[in-house]
Amino acid sequence: MSFPKSVKFLGYTYKIVKATHETAKAGCSGLFDAEDQLIHIHDHGSNEKLAETLIHELIHMIDYHFDTGLEETQVHRLSNGVFGVLRANKEIITLLSECN
Ligand SMILES: [Zn+2]
Repeated sequence: MSFPKSVKFLGYTYKIVKATHETAKAGCSGLFDAEDQLIHIHDHGSNEKLAETLIHELIHMIDYHFDTGLEETQVHRLSNGVFGVLRANKEIITLLSECN
């Protein structure tokens, strides 16, 4: 499995790290940490869950930088939607990979 080690956005680089047990125990699959520029991801052992969690945390990142004030339920719905549309239309990912 290839999984990104970091995400670049608006000149920032967010390192992707394994979530701590505390995060996992709190029932969170991931955590966006703007202050330390980290994205914590809990590894449930499923690529689907990893991708879904990463997209969810990326929505939090976008929300933070664009100050959109999304509620958690809105982040959840948007990330489910983005995950679903990309999963069902992988040619979009191919197109994106060919963009500069
Ligand atoms: Zn969230």
